[in-house]
Amino acid sequence: MLNFKNNVKIMLMASKTNTKPRTKTGSVQAVLDHERLNSLINSMADGVIATDEEGKIVLYNAAALDVLDVNSIQKGDPIEKVLKLTNENNDLLDTKGIILNTKIQTISRDYKINYTDGSVISIYLSISPVHHGYGKEGDKGFVLIIRDITREKSLEEERDEFISVISHELRTPVAITEGAVGNALFLAEKTGDVEKIKEALDNAHKQAIYLEDMINDLSTLSRAERGVLDNNIEDINAHEFVESLQSLYQPDAEKKGLKLYIDVDPKLEILRSAKLYVQEIMQNFITNSIKYTEKGSVTISAKAVEGGVQFSVTDTGIGISKSDQARVFDKFFRSEDYHTRQQNGTGLGLHVTKKLAQLAQAKITLESELGKGSTFTIFFPNLK
Ligand code: ADP
Repeated sequence: MLNFKNNVKIMLMASKTNTKPRTKTGSVQAVLDHERLNSLINSMADGVIATDEEGKIVLYNAAALDVLDVNSIQKGDPIEKVLKLTNENNDLLDTKGIILNTKIQTISRDYKINYTDGSVISIYLSISPVHHGYGKEGDKGFVLIIRDITREKSLEEERDEFISVISHELRTPVAITEGAVGNALFLAEKTGDVEKIKEALDNAHKQAIYLEDMINDLSTLSRAERGVLDNNIEDINAHEFVESLQSLYQPDAEKKGLKLYIDVDPKLEILRSAKLYVQEIMQNFITNSIKYTEKGSVTISAKAVEGGVQFSVTDTGIGISKSDQARVFDKFFRSEDYHTRQQNGTGLGLHVTKKLAQLAQAKITLESELGKGSTFTIFFPNLK
């Protein structure tokens, strides 16, 4: 271990060393400047590549290897050998031409790079034409700064998609509500036909409920994503809970002419979990099953499994194709299937469900066959 005296000695030596270059010749000074520049460039988090005026690489830093996903770059390599720019359609671009034709510094956030393993990243690319060295006599060339902005881009894209989907989903019910209320007003003034007025208002009411559902889904999603949902863990009597779901959804099932069964394991015990999450998740499964089933039944089952309770919701509905099964939990995903599109939906319900299941440490599985029906199963472990 260094003692205080040794420390002082090292500091003095260090300060002596620092003063050395001033007394040295210009060439040593240039070497030191070069080394300083090298370590500065190497400590940068962004990839830096300098080329000569023909686009041959004269300098690069460690971060450039990282962002280009290569192990080494040879000085003198043509830039297009290591940097293969593509556009958003994955078309290979003329990288060398883009760089050599740059007259003033340009910054782009629209290029991508395709890695050899097939993955694609979005990059920030700054191209600056420069004189390497001093004055007009120095070599000409280009300095590129490259940064991986894939994550930022996907967040931006997700936000844009979110806004576009939300405004699209809101527009239809708002337009229907406006039309229905306008119609009711017209009827009230001109005919006073109470039945017709009621019909129009009923239509507006349904749309208002749909809007309310959507706002609730969005607000639950936003709270689940920020992790600020009420997560009080309590004892849930699983048997009573399933019965309460049955009486809550009986009227909706009856309206569609469906049977709503329950199948509860007599050995079922108390589940310790966040009741709000369990309720929200099961309600999403049940409303979907009723929504996407035209005839037959919906069955809610519950059984004791070691360490927790397993619930399932089985329907005899339209079913989900294999390829869609992998995507139903994605934000805004709705099957393109004609039967699905006949029903209103935001594509948020199962995404919210997945988020809530993560918070409750629950595991969801899905079995489904197109045209036959679906079973959503979830295992809730007892939480402490
Ligand atoms: P939505 O608001 O569209 O119902 P969800 O996130 O709840 O959104 O569901 C996503 C998609 O998954 C639905 O649009 C539908 O294509 C499919 N889906 C969900 N549950 C069922 C089910 N029980 N039967 C058939 N398809 C379903």
